[in-house]
Amino acid sequence: MDAVLSEFGISPAGNHVVRSPIDGNEIGRVAFDDAHAIDRKIAASARAFQSWRDVPAPRRGELVRLFGEELRANKDALAKLVTLEAGKITAEGLGEVQEMIDICDFAVGLSRQLYGLTIASERPGHRMMEQWHPAGPVAVISAFNFPVAVWAWNSALAIVCGDPVIWKPSEKTPFTALAAQALFSRAVARFGKDAPDALSQVVLGGREAGEALAADKRIPVVSATGSTRMGHALAPVVSARFGRTILELGGNNAMIVCPSAKLELAERAIVFAAVGTAGQRCTSLRRLFVHESVAEPLIGSLKRTYAQLPVGDPRRAGTLVGPLIDAAAFEGMQRALVEAKGEGGSIAGGERLLERDFPDAFYVRPAIVEMPAQTKTVMRETFAPILYVMRHARFEDALVAHNAVPQGLSSCIFTRDMQEAERFLAAAGSDCGIANVNIGPSGAEIGGAFGGEKETGGGRESGSDSWKAYMRRQTATINFSDDLPLAQGIVFG
Ligand code: NAD
Repeated sequence: MDAVLSEFGISPAGNHVVRSPIDGNEIGRVAFDDAHAIDRKIAASARAFQSWRDVPAPRRGELVRLFGEELRANKDALAKLVTLEAGKITAEGLGEVQEMIDICDFAVGLSRQLYGLTIASERPGHRMMEQWHPAGPVAVISAFNFPVAVWAWNSALAIVCGDPVIWKPSEKTPFTALAAQALFSRAVARFGKDAPDALSQVVLGGREAGEALAADKRIPVVSATGSTRMGHALAPVVSARFGRTILELGGNNAMIVCPSAKLELAERAIVFAAVGTAGQRCTSLRRLFVHESVAEPLIGSLKRTYAQLPVGDPRRAGTLVGPLIDAAAFEGMQRALVEAKGEGGSIAGGERLLERDFPDAFYVRPAIVEMPAQTKTVMRETFAPILYVMRHARFEDALVAHNAVPQGLSSCIFTRDMQEAERFLAAAGSDCGIANVNIGPSGAEIGGAFGGEKETGGGRESGSDSWKAYMRRQTATINFSDDLPLAQGIVFG
């Protein structure tokens, strides 16, 4: 471990113990930032903004291009850290770093495309236009399950938009954050001196550190990824000072399987989405609505696949399901299973595995729970590999149940019936931020805007025009006439 950390120039020291979910052993210790240190970092970020906003956007993009190069050169090492700290299997750790590289490429192109509109003026000799200016320091508060990609989605855009970034990673994954920051610093060193110090900083700490960032007026944009509980606490604090939030909160994602679905494709999508990252993705598949005509073969086959899933050390080739993040995640899963059983659920899997090899880590067999209805337990997000399966006879009923949960992140349908697919995507169809046809709900590409509705928070990150959340819009009207006509034809005096 020390060798991996020293590759990034990190020497662990401090009081906060960081453990690997692989075996529960200590990876190292870090020091949390106290209130004074956080205040100093915010002040430094505000100073960095003064100069960074004046650097032309394409030049800012050059820094992100260099950062992408650092990521490419250090992909394996960073992915290894993701695996150690978050417990992702090797392929998913590499995928997470690839996502960082992809967003860097996207942001480099974007740095030449921060377009505003030209608007027809109602007044003669006038022109109207919309400009996009940097907003100011952006706080990024991130969750353990995407310990580096979420920061990259935010910071690659923020940096080309002219905003410094202060990153408060999950207290469970500080080392990956320090490593990613070290790579960014290498890019800054190659870039030259027009990148100010403190363009990107890391604040280490728990909830209190996040709260300090949320409350600080010097930070106009707070992008927070985590549980809906966290969003409930954070959003009023930021909005009370008229700050802007980008919220990426919990999901409770579903798939509707229709009679015409190609079942083998559906099954592959279900398994990847429901058990990948041990069910600890915001987009993990948690609810499956299966048409009664295909329920028997599909559920039977899923149960057989689940019984043979290779669960274990995520570093080992062939493992598909790594550990849960910690004991609390395991207990939350077991509680949900007991409750689902009490509501009439029939459970396959869900038990703890490998306890003898890893007494301080939490490996589980992913669970399939057949439910008689969409109960209270099914309606909430349990951050673990539990797939609730419900049967339906009518597409309309499945759609109503699909939308009946408080979360609105990702959704999908498997069908070869064009009407069903189009109805799922129509205004009265899926109410989620992401809606897919014949693809599972997880594993989004960075080119699209990522995020969800309702309790998922409404924020959008990554592709499309998500960059606008990191900038302030200015409407400018220019009078090139010799007169001063007023809008709405008003005659004044
Ligand atoms: P969490 O809510 O426990 O913590 C997330 C982050 O918020 C951490 O950095 C934490 O220190 C901080 N935090 C907690 N309370 C805070 C407060 N009151 N003010 C400011 N900061 C606070 O979440 P987690 O367990 O790390 O991650 C799992 C959750 O994240 C799941 O609910 C998952 O769906 C969600 N998630 C959502 C997305 C998305 O894009 N929608 C992506 C990844 C994870």
